[in-house]
Amino acid sequence: MSAHVINGKELVGAYRAEIKEQVEQLVKQGVTPGLAVVIVGDDPASHVYVRNKHRACEEAGIYSEVHKLPEETTEDELLELIRSLNSNASIHGILVQSPLPKHIHEERVVEEIDPEKDVDCFHPVNVGNLMIGKPGPAPCTPAGVIEILKKAGVEIAGKHAVVIGRSNIVGKPMGMLLLRENATVTTCHSRTANLEQLTSQADILIAAIGKPQVIKRQHVKPGAVVIDVGINRLESGKLCGDVDFDDVVEEASVITPVPGVVGPMTITILLRNTLEAAQRAAGVAAAQ
Ligand code: NDP
Repeated sequence: MSAHVINGKELVGAYRAEIKEQVEQLVKQGVTPGLAVVIVGDDPASHVYVRNKHRACEEAGIYSEVHKLPEETTEDELLELIRSLNSNASIHGILVQSPLPKHIHEERVVEEIDPEKDVDCFHPVNVGNLMIGKPGPAPCTPAGVIEILKKAGVEIAGKHAVVIGRSNIVGKPMGMLLLRENATVTTCHSRTANLEQLTSQADILIAAIGKPQVIKRQHVKPGAVVIDVGINRLESGKLCGDVDFDDVVEEASVITPVPGVVGPMTITILLRNTLEAAQRAAGVAAAQ
């Protein structure tokens, strides 16, 4: 048996087209969704991510402005910029690219962002709302994984989902969203004893570890759905996931390759969050 390999171009492309259409409708009503992306310092990978987000906005018809600040920017200067973006009516979403330089407290910066404009869902108010099931922006990567599962026709309710990773941006919110979809959720991490014993019980296995190709055939139940969130760079310069794709592809029923699926879907949810923030600001109900 060989898994259905999700085609990111097709799946993500179709979703972006839907979002673009909704953006066009909002523009016709006189409101152009706007995203401000703030980047501090010279981290090359972060600059690539920011460029990709900016390009995706342009393609979707979303206004986007990138604020590139030097490494030596002070926390106060950054907070001042956030406050001015909070009060700028043409900006509906604010994203501060991490990592920030060490002298800036990331938490302090996140807390300064108006929760209504927090399109990453990092603000404690939005994290709390996610926890208790109140509406709010979706955490981009985990919500992207849910969207991928749904669009691939994977039934989530009643299934045993195992998430490997418990970070604030992927693992923990991933577990919350899966619970919302009525999965039974197990979260694993670096201190989990018998990882393989747990992962091999998963109907849906989500790897968000940040270590290249550590998930092998023996971690996967035959017929499981495997979603690979990891993005790792091998010494050769090639990108790969946390899952050893070639080893697992024969075992799984559905699998996402890296790169090409979770990364682009994450950006798509960012577009959706910006659109929805603009719809809320304009008093227009979201389409779904
Ligand atoms: P973190 O480093 O913050 O978290 C990694 C998690 O994996 C931790 O909870 C850690 O456990 C756990 N872990 C580490 N080693 C093992 C192991 N051997 N066995 C079991 N669990 C382990 O990473 P992120 O959550 O931020 O990101 C995870 C991956 O996803 C990265 O590769 C990142 O690049 C990628 N990513 C991709 C995105 C996309 O758009 N596609 C977006 C965000 C991230 P512990 O808590 O005990 O340390």
